[in-house]
Amino acid sequence: MTRALGLLSGGLDSILAVCVLREQGIETTAISFESPFFGAGNARRAAARLGIPLLVRDITAEHLEMMKAPRYGFGANMNPCIDCHILMVRIAGGIMREEGYDFVFTGEVLNERPMSQNRQALRVVEKRSGCEGLLLRPLSAALLDETVPEREGKVDRSRLLGLHGRSRKPQMALAAEYGVEEYPSPAGGCLLTDPGFSRRLRDLRDREGLGDVRAIDLLKVGRHFRLGSGRKIVVGRKEAENRRLREMAREGDVLLTPRGFPGPTVLVCGGGGEDEILEAARACARYGDAVPGETVGVARTAGGETGLLSVTCPAPDGLSLHRV
Ligand code: SF4
Repeated sequence: MTRALGLLSGGLDSILAVCVLREQGIETTAISFESPFFGAGNARRAAARLGIPLLVRDITAEHLEMMKAPRYGFGANMNPCIDCHILMVRIAGGIMREEGYDFVFTGEVLNERPMSQNRQALRVVEKRSGCEGLLLRPLSAALLDETVPEREGKVDRSRLLGLHGRSRKPQMALAAEYGVEEYPSPAGGCLLTDPGFSRRLRDLRDREGLGDVRAIDLLKVGRHFRLGSGRKIVVGRKEAENRRLREMAREGDVLLTPRGFPGPTVLVCGGGGEDEILEAARACARYGDAVPGETVGVARTAGGETGLLSVTCPAPDGLSLHRV
């Protein structure tokens, strides 16, 4: 029996790719990836609904390494989609060889995304992933070169599709045909396509680099600022974020919490000098319910010890913080 390993994001296209191959009796297994920027939650749900086995691989180290200098650059945000696809297909290709799958497939649709799914990009991914001839895109295969499994008769090319372009209508019709009722919206799922997250990530890359996973995870919580010195502080926006910041604090950090007034927890990454801590404490007052000109208490916790600072709440424009 022909066995295929497919990249499953859990989005509609990848689900349909499985359906198209399964219809011609091909045994499909899915693979999905995790990193600080995307998870496998949608893929887990989709694989369970499809009733197919799912492999999940954490590619944090390889992905961060690639992010330092993606050969094919970034998309509109910090999304290096072509390099990311190359990485994922390369890993899937390794598993294909080790575990005896006949080919790798994806749910890519020709020209659905102008930068990362044009003909040239699809070719580059196939070539650079080391899967030349062994990477099948069942939804657009009729418009692409014949692959090895098609040539060898393991896949019936006449039953593959020729979808292309940005319209989702053909996919919706196919979903109805295959009885696929639940799938996430096309845009969600990867933080690297989010403009706000990308702005914070770019700042981190340019200042401290992308070697610290905790620093990346912090970008998902609270408001981020740079003090005049360049030091990063994170200000919680709601109680759940305040709690998360307290959980994420590690040795060397300073945590600031309001005393006697409602306000945010502030994490000062890597601690700081007295001036930096006082500036951060003023931010705690400013983003809390303290009134400009009022003197308030802010608890400072570091290395298991807590002390009390006294600061004057600044006017709205009285802080020299730079919002990241
Ligand atoms: S959207 Fe994110 S996960 Fe998807 S290819 Fe681009 S960078 Fe990779």
